[in-house]
Amino acid sequence: PQRFVIVGAGLAGAKAAEALREQGFDGRITLIGAEPHRPYERPPLSKGYLMGTTERAGVFVHPEGWYADHDVELRLGVAATGLDRGAHRVELTDGGAVEYDKLLLATGARPRTPPIPGAHAPHVHYLRTIEDCESLKEVIGSVSRLAVIGAGWIGLEVTAAVRRAGVEVTVLEVAELPLLRVLGPEVARVFAGLHRDHGVDLRLGVVVSEITRSGVRLGDGEEIPADAVLVGVGAEPEVRLAVQAGLPVDDGVVVDAALRTADPDIVAAGDVANAHHPLLGRRVRVEHWANALKQPRVAAATMLGREATYEELPYFYTDQFDLGMEYVGHVEPGGYDQVVFRGDVAGREFIAFWLSGDRVLAGMNVNIWDVVEPIKALIRTGTPVTAQALADPGLPLDKL
Ligand code: FAD
Repeated sequence: PQRFVIVGAGLAGAKAAEALREQGFDGRITLIGAEPHRPYERPPLSKGYLMGTTERAGVFVHPEGWYADHDVELRLGVAATGLDRGAHRVELTDGGAVEYDKLLLATGARPRTPPIPGAHAPHVHYLRTIEDCESLKEVIGSVSRLAVIGAGWIGLEVTAAVRRAGVEVTVLEVAELPLLRVLGPEVARVFAGLHRDHGVDLRLGVVVSEITRSGVRLGDGEEIPADAVLVGVGAEPEVRLAVQAGLPVDDGVVVDAALRTADPDIVAAGDVANAHHPLLGRRVRVEHWANALKQPRVAAATMLGREATYEELPYFYTDQFDLGMEYVGHVEPGGYDQVVFRGDVAGREFIAFWLSGDRVLAGMNVNIWDVVEPIKALIRTGTPVTAQALADPGLPLDKL
């Protein structure tokens, strides 16, 4: 029988195993995961699981028996350390090796570490794994002041979770607004207001130079007292295997729209893949849940030698305090002409549209639901729109 190997037992790896079986593959599937847990979802780690409202059982991608039931060999607590493309073999940390006919790289990403003194001290937390979440959870219960370095999605979600538990939080961000690069100033301001309204000490435009025992030191010498520190300064794709095997890597493993690497027997999906997107006309590496959920269907089809391309628009959601939102589309930093709002921005119940000329590039619905499909349709079809029509809540989005 054919042997397909998946390296990385996160959401993308697990969904690829599922997609292979759904698409009729009856050969061998080996899923190799460095973590000691069966595949789980990370979004609850900065939300419900951190706050104690989601049970541990609720984070796993599949029930425990699923892998045996679907004849998927799960090798946990074992990392792939070498990839020999000529021999079609993956070497493992336990000294063993597995041979493959087709290989999927689903190795995800890992937190970036800032190059400052103290970044590895015991009271400094990062958030990627269940273990990271559990140690942060303990901290929430025992500290009164947390410093969060980085006002990105993870830093802000953790801030919201921790504030609910009554901890004082100072967020330190080098940019002039939170999420500025991804959202631009118009919508980033909404997130700044949200956090300040909930008592967060949001310190913008500041440089952290050192993490000390008693807190964080800024570039100008100011000391921010904190009992613990969370660092959320982004993630970097886990590309070591691909680099070692000589596959093209450029902010992730470079793949075509079928998610195939330069080696026809190797595909990549999820956070690690920098994939050509036919609709956007360029490569994008998407570090979001929906991408890790859906790309594997295409990766599986490609492994099976079928024609498939991944054309889903990037999609992301977040929950912070009383703000829930969905974002669909893709905008390069500064790559839009204007943002048009529909609804009540001050009341945080609105839709924001990012436009280039008269085309919608992306949309974000905040505390308004069931509008993602019409927003997607506007982006996909490139329907010309006017700012006036977009801003008019009386005009249904599918009638613009
Ligand atoms: P990962 O989840 O990183 O899984 C990769 C796995 O591969 C890991 O278990 C890793 O240990 C393993 N691995 C790596 N190298 C090797 C190797 N050499 N050998 C064996 N195993 C290896 N997205 C959203 O859209 N909305 C959210 O609200 C949201 N919240 C998030 C909150 C947190 C705290 C985090 C960390 C992420 C969040 N995300 C969110 C992003 C989302 O979780 C990721 O996009 C998704 O986990 C990517 O899945 P993946 O399978 O590609 O990679």
